[in-house]
Amino acid sequence: MEPTIPDLGILRRFWSGFEDAGTTQAVVVGGVAIGGADPVIIAGPCAVESYEQTLAIATSVRRAGIRILRGGAFKPRTYPGSFQGLGDEGLEILAAVRRETGLAIVTEVLDPRLVERVAAVADMLQIGSRSMQNTPLLTEAGRSGKPVLLKRGWSATLSEWLGAAEYVAREGNTQIVFCERGIRVPAAEGYARAVLDLNVIHAIRALTPLPVLADPSHAAGRWDRVEPLARAALAASAHGLLIEAVAADTDRALLRSDAEQGIPPDVLERIVGFARRGPAPDPR
Ligand code: PEP
Ligand code: MN
Repeated sequence: MEPTIPDLGILRRFWSGFEDAGTTQAVVVGGVAIGGADPVIIAGPCAVESYEQTLAIATSVRRAGIRILRGGAFKPRTYPGSFQGLGDEGLEILAAVRRETGLAIVTEVLDPRLVERVAAVADMLQIGSRSMQNTPLLTEAGRSGKPVLLKRGWSATLSEWLGAAEYVAREGNTQIVFCERGIRVPAAEGYARAVLDLNVIHAIRALTPLPVLADPSHAAGRWDRVEPLARAALAASAHGLLIEAVAADTDRALLRSDAEQGIPPDVLERIVGFARRGPAPDPR
């Protein structure tokens, strides 16, 4: 059951250089090879809310042995009245935390006009689920020359997701990492925020040499369901995970974005331990 994928000229030419089944083009972020021999975990807050919160989480992320921090300065929110992120102040906090901890930074860019500003701080640009088909944004992210973390739109088909990657690749940038974050399935209403599509991890690995991560946090929607999904995604051969984390003793009532799904440090450490057992067998 191969999907019909029209018009992937650049990616197809690039992929034809990887005809060796099993070859993954590692994408290097802050000295860490995503798609290399070991699963890579990226963790951090949903949103950068303050310097103290971000530094506390970064410290526990680093203590867990993780080398890449996630955290949004510009947040895509469903309702305009919700906290939209600290914006430029959030970027400054991320830059300061990087100086302090040495962690590399993944952060979302929402607007094509902001790519340059976000890329000045980010080691990798995150394109969010809602933005996967914002084609001017994909083009600008491609032009930035930075590695791009391309989350799947929650209703996007595999072809649409690959088409989005082609927009980035057309700008000469094939440092693309896919990230499955759960798809909207009406049958899951009431118990899950989204359904983590484990099937698609294998499909991406079989069709492309690009790495693929899974984000169990936005599928689970609850911190106590993140760990089983994280293990399942690694078993399904994901090259790593993007996870939301909170600091120890966090008062969730005070968090302004995705308060329920950030995992505490002990759970993060267990997931890292599980990932250290090594990669799942290559499915190709
Ligand atoms: C996020 O990573 O915090 C986020 C907003 O994710 P998504 O785009 O997958 O909803
Ligand atoms: Mn979030």
